[in-house]
Amino acid sequence: MAESFNIAVFNGDGIGPEIMAPTVDILKKLATTNGNYGFEFCYAEAGARHYAETGEALPSVSLKMARDADAILLSAMGLPTVRYEDGTEISPQIDLRKELNLFAGVRPVRIVAGQNTPLKLAGGQSIDFVLIRESTEGLFYSQGKGVVTKDSASETMMITRETSEDLFKFAFSLARQRKELGHGKGEVTCVDKANVFRAFAFFRDIFDKEAVHHKDLKANHAYVDATALWMVTKPWDFDVLVTENMFGDILSDLGAGLMGGLGLAPSADIGKDNAVFQPCHGSAPDIAGQNIANPFAMILSAAMMLEWLGLKASNEAMVTDARRLRDAVDAVVIDGTKATRDLGGSSNTTQAGEAVLERL
Ligand code: ATP
Repeated sequence: MAESFNIAVFNGDGIGPEIMAPTVDILKKLATTNGNYGFEFCYAEAGARHYAETGEALPSVSLKMARDADAILLSAMGLPTVRYEDGTEISPQIDLRKELNLFAGVRPVRIVAGQNTPLKLAGGQSIDFVLIRESTEGLFYSQGKGVVTKDSASETMMITRETSEDLFKFAFSLARQRKELGHGKGEVTCVDKANVFRAFAFFRDIFDKEAVHHKDLKANHAYVDATALWMVTKPWDFDVLVTENMFGDILSDLGAGLMGGLGLAPSADIGKDNAVFQPCHGSAPDIAGQNIANPFAMILSAAMMLEWLGLKASNEAMVTDARRLRDAVDAVVIDGTKATRDLGGSSNTTQAGEAVLERL
């Protein structure tokens, strides 16, 4: 009997339910057609709308569903109009990262030949690197704990040895996996600001100690400011970049910009036992409820989920379907005629999802 995977689905806020619907349809269709794996989807409540209705942003029953699932699909959460009393936004996606210790935020930056990008690429040239953003500590450790007095404000960055070791182990193993799958040259670059901050010298030192155990791979260092420059001037040089939470937050939006916008940027937040797959963009309340949002970042995140589950379970059919799904989205994006408005097309969300299914 085909192995079945239990997926916790968070529809979230704003455009969340609209981009999740075609994504789940595609996953169901892929599993049924393939026959070598299956899915059970269970829907979990959380987010700003749920908070406004019930006073709870991430109910314990939803957290349990997430914890118990084989993988978590999350669309987007938060609404600027719904806030906690201290003025901050509802962000259960960040709470989930902390609760489930999802330390590795994986942000692929892929530009296939023919894709629209602000970069000036030579004909046929493509970009394929991965940014890993530590997702539980760094400057975000301070979230909700910053100290503000009349005359000053301070936030504390936290970098721990344990999380950094796990992060770098993950980065090297991802670089090895990419090399084996023919995606990269087997190189990990630690992105920091070790020339100015002691915390980053500490981060870099832990990286160097881990690198010693991976002689088959290349280990590199780069300062974050230079990395921002090189992401624009020579992004084809990168393979796996690994960095602190706040630096990763900023660089991953730069990566999304290179890919032609947030609508094409998928992500995964991975820990030792759990993983959340979600688009890099937010809930886009300005276009919610109109069926015009781009579902591709959500669908590409689902492809990452397929690959992660497939590699974990040694299910080759899933890994192959992950690649097929990515290729189908790429083909729709390059073709352009069935793309959504943010990519210059005129399809609505449903039609864009259908175009991916047709390609499959
Ligand atoms: P967050 O801080 O929660 O990440 P944000 O403030 O960065 O959110 P988004 O919700 O990501 O903002 O939206 C930024 C802009 O990008 C908005 O104009 C929004 O309409 C647009 N946008 C975001 N996601 C999509 C999408 N999937 N399709 C089309 N437009 C999108």
